[in-house]
Formats: sequence, structure tokens, C-alpha cells
Amino acid sequence: MSKNLYFTKEHEQVRKAIRDFVNKRINPFVDEWEEAGIAPLNELFKEMGELGFLGIRYDPKYGGEGLDYWYETVMLEEISHIRCGAIPMAIAVQTNMATPAIDEFGSDYLKEKYLQAAIRGEMVGAIAVTEPDAGSDVAALKTFARRDGDVYVLNGSKTYITNGTQADFLTLLARTSEEPGYRSFSLFVVPTDMPGFKVSKKLDKLGMRSSDTAELYFDDLRVPVAHRIGEEGEGFIYQMQQFQHERFSALPMAYIGGEDMIRETVDYIRGRVVFGKPLIKKQVLRHRLVQWVSELECLRQLTYHIVRLKEAGQDATREISMGKLLGGDLLNKIADGCLQMHGGMGFMNEMRVSRFFRDTRLISIGGGASEVMSDVIAKLEGW
Ligand SMILES: Cc1cc2nc3c(=O)[nH]c(=O)nc-3n(C[C@H](O)[C@H](O)[C@H](O)COP(=O)(O)OP(=O)(O)OC[C@H]3O[C@@H](n4cnc5c(N)ncnc54)[C@H](O)[C@@H]3O)c2cc1C
Repeated sequence: MSKNLYFTKEHEQVRKAIRDFVNKRINPFVDEWEEAGIAPLNELFKEMGELGFLGIRYDPKYGGEGLDYWYETVMLEEISHIRCGAIPMAIAVQTNMATPAIDEFGSDYLKEKYLQAAIRGEMVGAIAVTEPDAGSDVAALKTFARRDGDVYVLNGSKTYITNGTQADFLTLLARTSEEPGYRSFSLFVVPTDMPGFKVSKKLDKLGMRSSDTAELYFDDLRVPVAHRIGEEGEGFIYQMQQFQHERFSALPMAYIGGEDMIRETVDYIRGRVVFGKPLIKKQVLRHRLVQWVSELECLRQLTYHIVRLKEAGQDATREISMGKLLGGDLLNKIADGCLQMHGGMGFMNEMRVSRFFRDTRLISIGGGASEVMSDVIAKLEGW
């Protein structure tokens, strides 16, 4: 078990409150939501908002708790104990993907109307960046917002959007100029109750089954200019910064999820007798588990180093990209290895390991694939 140098009694109180909520209000319902292919986010977020879990870092002026990145890490660690990947992801979309740019660059109007509602859990947010022809290469996106007086007229489509069928607003990146280069994009808050918005499809997925992932379509949707986050032409830069909050959230999900899975696997192989002895007696398996917990511990300590960098106001893009790269690839290895140790039982849907195997596969793809993280790191190294 990891030793604690960083968390105080106050952090542990917050940890306990979130853990209790997860154990009482989320985990008992996960199987039902996974089966249904959707979770009641409006209801769930309302409860979490009332308890202050959705605005840990945000300004109390807008209903936030005004706490630091250590508290945010506590929150991310605790939601990572949820018994599936989809619900932690849905929550992280609300706290670390759809709202950081509104908090950092949005007007008072956007903060009062959307950030506050997201913090209170009165609105569900989604982040709309990816398009059918623009995933890893974000700058290839085609959705266009054409200025027309006091509005932007939005046309195009987005795909793989988490919380997409339930979202009340989207934080959306669109092109606002045909010029090449990174200054041709703007970031918007797009309410989903406006004419011209359509959920074209709810997507069927390998894993993250209780997360509703959607393809969205915009047909002459008139977004008020007041819904632009910050300056026109700066959206790409804002989104690159917002990605740092998103990618950071993947780190606790990786080491907590991995540790939980290892714990369950150890329980299983303690009880499973093969060739006359419990499987845990096999040194080869114990050594493999030790290798994984060692690597997860490194990831945890890198995460805490990143928190210290963030608290010191330093840029942590290099370290966050490294953590996302290592965490994604590590979880692929651990999920595969834990399933193997369960034998045929690991292949059964009733076992959590099979869900873990399906869900964790996303970490090295979503929010910037491992290869994209490698490109970012290589660039920062000057290679
Ligand atoms: C379940 C799910 C939920 C998602 N949620 C959201 C969401 O809420 N909002 C949103 O905007 N997006 C979301 N996404 C999209 C996700 O971020 C993209 O899938 C991801 O960025 C990869 O883009 P792509 O799928 O277009 O892959 P592509 O860009 O087509 O890349 C395919 C593969 O090519 C490889 N590759 C890419 N670039 C390089 C490179 N430079 N060098 C070498 N190899 C490379 C990688 O292995 C990559 O996986 C979600 C995706 C999924 C599956």
C-alpha cells in the first residue's frame, strides 16, 4: 500500500465523504446502468453537486469549493474506485474536460450560467472536439462557426461525444476562419436545446458501456456571440490547455483502477486451486503482480509530482503527457494479465475483470492516443 506524505486529515475527510457516496449511491447501481447502456447523469450529478464534489477546484463565487489540486486528486482517486470506467469518465467530463476552459477563460455570464450549473449538477456538460475526420489531428476539424452579427452560425458534426445524448451544454471547438494555422479556431458553450442541434446516433461500444457516447449534428445552429469562450481565434490554444486537465484525470484512474484490479485478482488466485495448490503460490504469478504494483506506484508518484508542479504554478504538460502515455499502456498490460490469471472465468461477463479489460482499453486511445502523447513529449524534448 502506498505511503502517504501528501494528504492531511482534511483531505482524508473529503476522501471519506466521496468514498461513502461512491459505495452507497453509485457502486450498487453500476451493473444496472452497464446493462442499460446509460446512467442517469442528471440525477447523479445533482446529488454530487449538492455535496460539493463537482466544483472542488472552482471559485466559490460560482458555487465551487475553492480547494487545490490535492483535493482534486483525492476526488479523482475516489471516483476511480467506481466499479466501471464509464461513470468516472462521465464525472471527469463534467469536472476536468467540459468546464476548465470556462473557468479559466470564460466571461462572468458563461460562468454564472454554465459553470455554476455544472458545479451544482443542474446541467450535464460534454466536450465536443472529435469529428469523423479529425481525432488525433485536432486541427483537421471542419465544423464551422460563421459570424453573423450577434451570433455564430454553426454547421458540422462531432463524434464519440461522452455524455452526448444527455448533455445540456457542449464545450465545443469549431473553426472560425478558413486560414491555415492554429489561430483559426474558437471555443464555444453550445446549449443543446437550441434549434439546429441533433443527436444523430447513440454509439454502441466495446466498453464503457454505461457511458452514452454520441454522434452530434449541427445545422445552422445560431450560437450567441456571448457563448464564445474568451477571444475569437484562441480556441485551439484554450483547448490544448483544457486537455491538460483531461489527461491529468486519466492518471488516478489508471493507478487506482489498476490497483483495484490487482487486489481482486489476488483474491481470486488465492482461492483458485490448480495442480493441488492455490494459484497465488506460483512465484511466476506473484512476480508479475509485483512488477505491476511497482509500475503503478511510479505512476502514482509521478501524479503527485505533477500536483506539486501545478501547485507551484509550473507547466506540467511534459509530465502529464508522460503519465497518460505510461498509464494507458500499463493498464493495457495489467488488464490483459489479470484476465489471464482468471482463466476462463476472466472471459465471463459476470467478472469485473472482463469489464476492466474492455473499459481500460480506452485510456491509451481517448483524449490523445499514446502515439500523440509520444509526439508531444518528443517535441518538448526538442527531438
Ligand atoms: C468511448 C470514447 C469516448 C470519447 N469521448 C470523447 C469526448 O467526449 N469528446 C471528444 O471530443 N472526443 C472523444 N473521444 C474521441 C477520442 O479522443 C479520439 O478517439 C482519440 O483522440 C483518437 O482519435 P481517432 O479516434 O480519430 O483516431 P485517429 O486519429 O484515426 O488515430 C488512429 C490511431 O492512429 C495512431 N496515431 C495517431 N496519431 C499518430 C501519430 N502522430 N503517430 C503514430 N500513430 C498515430 C494511434 O494509435 C491512434 O489510436 C472519445 C472516444 C471514445 C472511443
